[in-house]
Amino acid sequence: MKETGNLSINSENFLPIIKKWLYTDKDIFIRELVSNACDAVTKLKKLMLMGEADHIPAEEAFQVRVLLNKDEKTLQIVDNGIGMTDEEIKKYINQIAFSGAADFLAKYEEKAEGDNEIIGHFGLGFYSAFMVANKVEIDTLSYQQGAAAAKWSCADGIDYEMSDGSRTERGTTITLYLSEDGEEFLDETKLYAALHKYCAFMPVPIFVDILSKEDEAEETPAEKDNTIHISEEEAASLTKEEILAKAQEKTEKTEEEKEEPKPLNDPSPLWLKQPRDCTEEEYKEFYHKVFFDLNDPLFWIHLNMDYPFRLKGILYFPKLVEQMDVVEGQIKLYSNQVYIADNIREVVPEFLLLLKGVLDCPDMPLNVSRSALQNDGYVEKMNSYITKKVADKLNQLFKSDRSAYEGFWDDIGMFFKYGCMREESLYDKIKDALLLKTTDGVYETIAEYLEKNKEKHENKIFFVTDEAQQAQYIRMFKEQGLEAAILTSPVDKPFVSFLEYKNPGVKVQRIDADITDTLQEKKDGEESEAKKQADEYANTKMETLFREALSKEDLKVKAEHLKTASVSAMILLSEDSRRMMEMME
Ligand code: ADP
Ligand code: MG
Repeated sequence: MKETGNLSINSENFLPIIKKWLYTDKDIFIRELVSNACDAVTKLKKLMLMGEADHIPAEEAFQVRVLLNKDEKTLQIVDNGIGMTDEEIKKYINQIAFSGAADFLAKYEEKAEGDNEIIGHFGLGFYSAFMVANKVEIDTLSYQQGAAAAKWSCADGIDYEMSDGSRTERGTTITLYLSEDGEEFLDETKLYAALHKYCAFMPVPIFVDILSKEDEAEETPAEKDNTIHISEEEAASLTKEEILAKAQEKTEKTEEEKEEPKPLNDPSPLWLKQPRDCTEEEYKEFYHKVFFDLNDPLFWIHLNMDYPFRLKGILYFPKLVEQMDVVEGQIKLYSNQVYIADNIREVVPEFLLLLKGVLDCPDMPLNVSRSALQNDGYVEKMNSYITKKVADKLNQLFKSDRSAYEGFWDDIGMFFKYGCMREESLYDKIKDALLLKTTDGVYETIAEYLEKNKEKHENKIFFVTDEAQQAQYIRMFKEQGLEAAILTSPVDKPFVSFLEYKNPGVKVQRIDADITDTLQEKKDGEESEAKKQADEYANTKMETLFREALSKEDLKVKAEHLKTASVSAMILLSEDSRRMMEMME
């Protein structure tokens, strides 16, 4: 059988489009080809479940192999999945953008139970191979009984050639003859990097083989040491049976040491398990492994939703790294266990970007290159679901163990304040669990703070932004039995205004602004005439002094008496003026 033809696409400009526009990162071909191989296995497993492939043993070891041959400059992706007949090659490969995955799903929709775990659906992924190869071959044998192996070969993605295939076992071998553009993948570190990036959690075990003459020459395979060493005296004291037993033991040990090779990937990632089946250790281990963070996370949220859309994942709240100004999280996005990208702002609710986690959203409407979204209705729904989960978790921690919760607060407070400002609905859900750490060394909710201090100052929250700089004021406050919230992180500045906005009637002000009302003695009875005069004198004097010093004609200065032992005089700047200045900055 030999047949040639022209790919049924009307444009010869097709490959340049793929190369330049569709896929920005070259290494994406790994994702596409390995995910196709996984799909091939998933499809076959589905058929087996439906009783449509009974000739295949149930315990079949499905796998994907990636073979790099440095001398031949080829890279092969080999699977033992569903395979293709030559008719199927014509349909799924020659007709570009006719997605076989969509076709398969449509065909088995009613019959297939459960979810659609098939990765492909754009029908273009295969052609990403031409980003790194000048020639691509498919050698494939369909699972169908009596099927003939078929081969497809295409140089530069323009003309194809089909002939009889050489595979004798079911499955597909894709061979890439790496072009100059793809030569970098002859370096196995590059290859491994791409595999770890995109395939770490793909659903079928993946194994890698690197072939190179050079390596073979270097590697003089050390003779397996199967001899047993027994001294003459020892030998004399042992019976023949005992010596045989020793030898036997040795062989068994060597065999045990030859462990089963481990796949590169973890085909059943933790996020897909039911939360009730996961242990604390597993969550921590997964965190350390995926985020290269040796610290334990503080706590985590396991998202597990099937309806009305599927969303699985784990969000971790990391410990803040001391002295780090920028908090940088990492949210890894997956679709059906295939890595898409990190921190996609269009998809992941912005406040989550401070956390670390994995999100697997198979229903996400991605575009062909899978790096961007096609519409955002989905994002909104996902957003509100995640927000609710985060709020629930926080409230539950707050209620179930207040002291542990307070222990977390310094680490998570900044995240939640930021989250509330970004997502007002989050504030509404968690406002009763937001804490203020005060100069008394305690943690209070806003309601608790207001209640505790209402005798001294009603509906006012005082705060400190710099404990060293404002030490004087803190001391003065303490002398009078007052306390202030410590709000020193960068999010606190806008958060103060946000708190006022969300709590109408409550004034939030810095410890060195507008505090005279609070500090002064309640005016009981007449003020002495002398004091009044002194005040007026001070006022005019001070105003003139400051106006001159700052050359500001219209400066307003107000002098007042203080009721405090530790300070004889202090300069205060009103809360509103300061905030205005901060805003200008
Ligand atoms: P998609 O995966 O979105 O369907 P692709 O361009 O990646 O599109 O692949 C096109 C089609 O080619 C697949 O849907 C599938 O039918 C077929 N195909 C590709 N690779 C394999 C493979 N390894 N085994 C069996 N069929 C394959
Ligand atoms: Mg595909």
